Amino acid sequence: MTVNSYVSHLECSATGERYEHDRLHGLSRTGAPLLVRYDLPAIAAAVNKADLANRAPDMWRYREFLPLPHEMTPVSLGEPITPLIRLGDTQAYIKDEGRLPTGSFKARGMAVAVSMAKHFGRTRLAAPTAGNAGAAAAAYGALAGMEVFVFTPDDTPDVTLREIAYHGARVFRVNGLINACAGIVRGGTDVMGWHDLSTLEEPYRIEGKKTMGLELAEQLGWALPDVIYYPTGGGTGFIGMWKAFDELKAIGWIDAKRPRMVAVQATGCHPIVRAADQGLDHVPEPWAPVESQVHGIRVPKPLGDRLIMNVIRESNGFGSIASDEDADKARRDVIESDGTHLSPEGALCYAAYQGDLAAGRVSPEAHVILFNTATGFKSPMPEAACSTLDANAPINYDALSS
Ligand SMILES: *Cc1c(COP(=O)(O)O)cnc(C)c1O
Repeated sequence: MTVNSYVSHLECSATGERYEHDRLHGLSRTGAPLLVRYDLPAIAAAVNKADLANRAPDMWRYREFLPLPHEMTPVSLGEPITPLIRLGDTQAYIKDEGRLPTGSFKARGMAVAVSMAKHFGRTRLAAPTAGNAGAAAAAYGALAGMEVFVFTPDDTPDVTLREIAYHGARVFRVNGLINACAGIVRGGTDVMGWHDLSTLEEPYRIEGKKTMGLELAEQLGWALPDVIYYPTGGGTGFIGMWKAFDELKAIGWIDAKRPRMVAVQATGCHPIVRAADQGLDHVPEPWAPVESQVHGIRVPKPLGDRLIMNVIRESNGFGSIASDEDADKARRDVIESDGTHLSPEGALCYAAYQGDLAAGRVSPEAHVILFNTATGFKSPMPEAACSTLDANAPINYDALSS
């Protein structure tokens, strides 16, 4: 099936082998993720920075950089440009991805992946997920009229399970981690005939997440920040943003300056940070035992480990950890003093940044972007300290503030 877009081909990230983009692919023959390659000179000829000013403020303004056929209407729930929120009078900004449909940045990837699945006539989708990818798959799948199967660890927050089921998807709780869920999806592909949406098994979610990098560059006047803190699980956004910067440089929209890319993980599961600290170019073995409740980044051995490590190395970045307790405290501090309700993953980024500031690893003058990858409302909150009042009795106002 032809795809009339600026895509030239797909490329094995390990061997460089070419694959045609006229059909859906999973991993390459060697089991590595495939990357989408474009005819960049054709993109440069088709669009310039000024053209963007006249387009809607959503992720589809970067349409030329996306794999959808030109004539296709995207499967879209309205994916807005997300704001940069300054923290006090510091040089640190939160990019608040909690504003996207289904409350997390997984919407960006799924909007593109489900659009491509629809173009190729697929009607059944399956996703292993820590929760947010499943919610996004369920929402975009519902819009596209597809059947969606979601597999999630059994300690996934109840609100997410309900959200997924409410969209009409079938959701299954698995007594294992995300890799166990991924195994169930892979094992069922032949019998069930579903399209496997697993992180990096499918080449188009990266392209959707790439729009975070395009958007950030445009928001900052086509100049990139000094440092990016990103809560890294499978690494889709980390790899995707770096890819965006490469593509923008190739068409001359940005100069050579790149941010240092910081992969943030939890103390209780930090395979990427450990490998980076050991100077390795991959994760040799899955992290065990996993001891963290920061669900979105609990990935013991990401499929894209080599690609993630490569971004850290090329960007002169590093890995940074913080504990679940640090993330809890950061979430409370930020919602109380800055008003933004971070996800545990975003709070972990904030905590890691504070730790690196204290350790002198980053300068307080550095222009830093901290990714808040989901809204805090999807994660359990502490019980409210809330007393009751009797509307039929006199109110003792003096007691209200005690
Ligand atoms: C999936 C997820 C992540 C990790 O994203 P990757 O790009 O796959 O590393 C981080 N935070 C939240 C809230 C997530 O849902």
